[in-house]
Amino acid sequence: MPQRPEPLLPLGLRLSGRHVVVVGGGPVALRRVGALLLARAKVTLVSPAAVAALEDLADRDQIDWLRRPYEPGDLQGAWLAMACTADAAVNAEVLAAADEARVFCLRADDASGASAWMPATGRSGQATISVHGNRDPHTAAALRDVAIAAVETALRQDPTLSANRRAPVAGFGRVTLVGGGPGDPELLTLKGFQALADADVVVIDRLAPLAVLDGLRDGVEIIDVSKIPRGRFTPQKEINEILVSRAREGRVVVRLKGGDPFVFGRGMEEVIACNEAGVPVEVIPGVTSAAAAPALAGIPLTHRGISQGFTVVTGHAAPDDPRSTLDWDALARGGTTLVVLMGVDTLASIVGALVDAGREGDTPVACVMDAGLPSQEVVLTTLAAIVSSGAPPELRSPAVTVIGAVAAFAAG
Ligand code: SAH
Repeated sequence: MPQRPEPLLPLGLRLSGRHVVVVGGGPVALRRVGALLLARAKVTLVSPAAVAALEDLADRDQIDWLRRPYEPGDLQGAWLAMACTADAAVNAEVLAAADEARVFCLRADDASGASAWMPATGRSGQATISVHGNRDPHTAAALRDVAIAAVETALRQDPTLSANRRAPVAGFGRVTLVGGGPGDPELLTLKGFQALADADVVVIDRLAPLAVLDGLRDGVEIIDVSKIPRGRFTPQKEINEILVSRAREGRVVVRLKGGDPFVFGRGMEEVIACNEAGVPVEVIPGVTSAAAAPALAGIPLTHRGISQGFTVVTGHAAPDDPRSTLDWDALARGGTTLVVLMGVDTLASIVGALVDAGREGDTPVACVMDAGLPSQEVVLTTLAAIVSSGAPPELRSPAVTVIGAVAAFAAG
């Protein structure tokens, strides 16, 4: 017979700066410590041994670690205790001491006698969701996922549910620059995803992960300011004006960009424009294509014994173009993996400059096109082949070109 759920008072503990004692140093303790640090708690760990990640947190003074077995008195001053050792007798002792001291205590191995239970938790926009499954963590986690999905659907369908979804109030608008990653919507960060769920207005580029637009709630204004090379183009000044004017109307504006907003993304110009207009602005970093495109093609930018670093440059101005301020001789000799963005039209000229400066002709070159999209394609060639026959005929924009020994790892 299923047990009747025990009556509980679910609370949201505000632990910032408050002392919490975690007894035990294994993976369970690690999970708890991670959650406690996110809540800004002051954590003391009590355990003779700890997994490496906990030891590292202690080394970096993120937590205090008493490197010894639990002793009576260790809960002194704590607001909350967590008994997470692998030893039931120790956990029982910690719980008894906590009860004696009137400190709420979770017990990992056997929650039946504990004074507090850990819910399964998650977040969606402004909502924190916590689910108790009558002490069955699997039920709780499954129901938590259902609850998050339901909240997300409800927020999309009924804008009035979110605190941010009130009618626009002049003076309360803001702008969030979201790095969208290389194009696969699953490579958008959780934080970026949440910012999008809150948006009244989304201002996008063509290289932003367009598939996420489909999931936005009804009624969101979408403004496309793509700058297509040699094609349609919205001047940066106009983009800045769109961001500022929409925010001044009291709207929540997300500027969704490809990759990371600050890697050849002109993000700082938008931040400055907002600052000058007195509009609050926040930046959420993204997975830059400079790193993601190689990784998605199986190329490590650094590899022990082969490459001790990488240099990311724009190829929009060819080496012989007076607008290029890069020292291509130094780049050729630098010994790092070279990552070229915006270098489709100029690739042959860039390769010529590198070879002239002494980079070996057999150096592998990988061009990764449409990284993270269903149309992703990789071409592997060499500097010498490009010098003799020009850029690969398949090469098209957008592409990230990797030049260096590691490019040979490319999986076609
Ligand atoms: N802020 C972006 C870069 C903007 S510049 C970032 O951090 O990724 C635009 C250039 O980025 C393109 O010309 C191309 O070189 C590269 N790029 C962006 N997305 C790409 C993708 N999905 N595949 C290949 N290259 C990409």
